[in-house]
Amino acid sequence: MKRLVIKIGSNILASAEKGLDTRRLRAIAKDISEVIDAGHQVVMVSSGAVAAGLKKLGLRVKPQDIRLKQAAAAIGQSSLMWAYENSFADFNKKVAQVLLTRDDISNRLRYINAKNTLFTLMSYGVIPVINENDPVAVDEIKFGDNDMLAALTASLVEADMLIILSDVEGLYSMDPAHKGAELIKRVREITPEIEKLAGDSGSAVGTGGMFSKVLAARQAANHGIPVVIMSGKKSGLLKKLLTGNEQGTYFEPGKQRMPLKKGWIAYGVKSKGVIYLDDGAVKALTVLGRSLLPSGITKIEGDFEVGAYIRCVTKEGRKIAKGLTNYSSKDLERIKGKKTAEIEKVLGYKYSDEVIHRDNLVVI
Ligand code: GLU
Repeated sequence: MKRLVIKIGSNILASAEKGLDTRRLRAIAKDISEVIDAGHQVVMVSSGAVAAGLKKLGLRVKPQDIRLKQAAAAIGQSSLMWAYENSFADFNKKVAQVLLTRDDISNRLRYINAKNTLFTLMSYGVIPVINENDPVAVDEIKFGDNDMLAALTASLVEADMLIILSDVEGLYSMDPAHKGAELIKRVREITPEIEKLAGDSGSAVGTGGMFSKVLAARQAANHGIPVVIMSGKKSGLLKKLLTGNEQGTYFEPGKQRMPLKKGWIAYGVKSKGVIYLDDGAVKALTVLGRSLLPSGITKIEGDFEVGAYIRCVTKEGRKIAKGLTNYSSKDLERIKGKKTAEIEKVLGYKYSDEVIHRDNLVVI
């Protein structure tokens, strides 16, 4: 049995002119039902709400006005779920709607609650269908796109694989519109060159494009989860993939699976500030596996309290780690560059020797 997170893009399911493509949706429901009948567990992350809602609002293109987009999402989400409910019922499957915002993942208690709900649904054989709670999500609490939401979901449910169904076959060696473009079948590591291949494209009704898919793949792969980006426009491919036939582009997972708590620190929670480290501290964290001490800190950005999650960067600003700080930004301003033995003298108190303890730190 494999636990799969399957992400379905807007472009596969809907367009502003035609609304929801219920035939395609039904074909996807059939494919996913087959996968479940073969013994696998599935969590779906489905886009398409905005696109489906546009048609109902009588709009032909995605509006710039955020209120209209949110209204479209609210209208379209019920159509989307109605279509899933009906289609899956034909294959004796039940679905449940789960709407999330970035805040729900960033807040540890809600994150755990979301996880419990998803597992309860799966234990009853129900397929959770996740989407972003677009009608209430403003920029600060947005995932950005459903590819990222799918990657976070894959970590949340500790998936064995993340499958991103797209309107293209996978990642190509160059813009697929060009003649010489070839499908890349396997990506060992997502390097900056690979990211560049994906370009920075958007799509007509979704927000993603290949770039955001590759970033999501990188995140899941770093977490230790393999990722496949493949076509969601043709039937029968999921079954083929799961019976050993390569499909689309396969991204190899990182060597180690990140424990759930560390995965949440790395990708779930939002950071409230940044601290710059000297070379010694960078080495202590990344090579020697040590905790972060005040002596290696050179600069602090942001205004944060004790217990905030903060990003640790090199002097050039490259992100190397994230963790929970035992000191506020104000305290850190005063103890940066100082020896541990001096903390109490400078502040008048000491919470701990470490600014970030190893156990609360993830090297990225
Ligand atoms: N949540 C949006 C929707 O359901 C889609 C976001 C995306 O395409 O990434 O329409």
